[in-house]
Amino acid sequence: MTDDPLLSVRNLEKHYPITEGVLSRQVGAARAVDGISFDIAKGETVGLVGESGCGKSTAASSIIRLEEPTGGEVIFNGDRASSATTANDERSNDVTEFDDERLKAFRRDAQMIFQDPSSSFDPRQTIGGSIAEPLEVHGMNDRARRRAIVENLLEDVGLAAAEYDRYPHEFSGGQKQRIALARALVLNPDLVIADEPVSALDVSIRAEILSLIDDLQDRYGLSMLFISHDMSVIRDVCDRVAVMYLGEIVEIAPTGEIFSNPQHPYTEALLSAIPTPDPRSTREDIELKGKVPSPTNPPAGCSFHTRCHRVIQPDEYDLEQSHWRALLTFRDEVAEGTVDVEKTRQALGADAAGDGDDEGASDAAVKRQLRTNFDLPETLSDREAEGTLTEALDHLLGGEDDRAGELLSTTFTTPCEGTEPALTDRGTDHQAACFLTESEQSFREPVGVRTD
Ligand code: SF4
Repeated sequence: MTDDPLLSVRNLEKHYPITEGVLSRQVGAARAVDGISFDIAKGETVGLVGESGCGKSTAASSIIRLEEPTGGEVIFNGDRASSATTANDERSNDVTEFDDERLKAFRRDAQMIFQDPSSSFDPRQTIGGSIAEPLEVHGMNDRARRRAIVENLLEDVGLAAAEYDRYPHEFSGGQKQRIALARALVLNPDLVIADEPVSALDVSIRAEILSLIDDLQDRYGLSMLFISHDMSVIRDVCDRVAVMYLGEIVEIAPTGEIFSNPQHPYTEALLSAIPTPDPRSTREDIELKGKVPSPTNPPAGCSFHTRCHRVIQPDEYDLEQSHWRALLTFRDEVAEGTVDVEKTRQALGADAAGDGDDEGASDAAVKRQLRTNFDLPETLSDREAEGTLTEALDHLLGGEDDRAGELLSTTFTTPCEGTEPALTDRGTDHQAACFLTESEQSFREPVGVRTD
């Protein structure tokens, strides 16, 4: 956490109730954001990164209270006056407790930019009028002054002052995002929250808009929360990065540190998805299998254990890591009842019939195919593990799915599903939530990061 933050997010939660029956009795909750904490210093850009559905956009809209958080604090300008808090004001600086008047003042100091700029403009209003609107809402009645401010801003974002009187449909996507930036800056905010601001743009335009964001951030001394699913975008604009998975921050560190020394396997997988132009690179692509689990029913223990390529083996096994991962995935799918033996047999039978063989698929062929489907080898290197897998396959083919599921679930367990790892220190200003220690990590070659 930083010394003198502009924004301090503490244990922020946004849970959506799940209700049932005519009385709408609450039976559970979708934990979209589940207790995240981070700071943003003055002039700093913090990236919030993760796959779609990890809760990063909900976190942003809860911070700015477009959605009401269900727990935690958002402290803005902790020990200094802002539009929302005067110098002698003894009221709390917790945004989650602001009344309407203070919330309006806060939203002057904290602006948001969205992914699709088109949807945030009124097609019947000139772009100049659109950018000037917040000035009018916040009490600037001098029309000429409003126009002068907006014309200056248009030039700051790389457009011409003369474009004031044009309409949104006359601009390209990249130009509209420039206009959205101008509107976000018109009230001279301290903080900008940018939610996937370049993901809807052509790749060729992205670099221009990112460079503009970087320039504006310097020129206006802005603090920024920059949300993206794309690590390569984060690398270009952020000072620090918080990696989110299933509503939680699993790693947070300065950008250079995250790229050169990732400590969480999920971060490692996100980094491996960045294309590398170097044909000599030995960096390994990590394919994360399976979907992000539902926040209504997160896995026990480490929430990443159902997909983690480094999921820990208990002491009694020393299997090839990819085989261990495959074994646990097979175990989970058998337990969920999603392994369909008959479908596999029919598919094999159809192939055999196509080859003129009407005998149908043998049990041995079905078992082999199931192993192939789950990336399991013909034989596991550990004799006992192989014995259990063979027995479970026999149960499955004998129609005893429950027995197979129970056998696999009681035999193959990982320490990662027992308790939830907490964020622990991994170096200066670097925290990660994983049971693997730094010495057990053998992460890939560093991914290039800007040094300016
Ligand atoms: S605790 Fe286990 S499952 Fe979670 S990230 Fe670390 S190795 Fe993977």
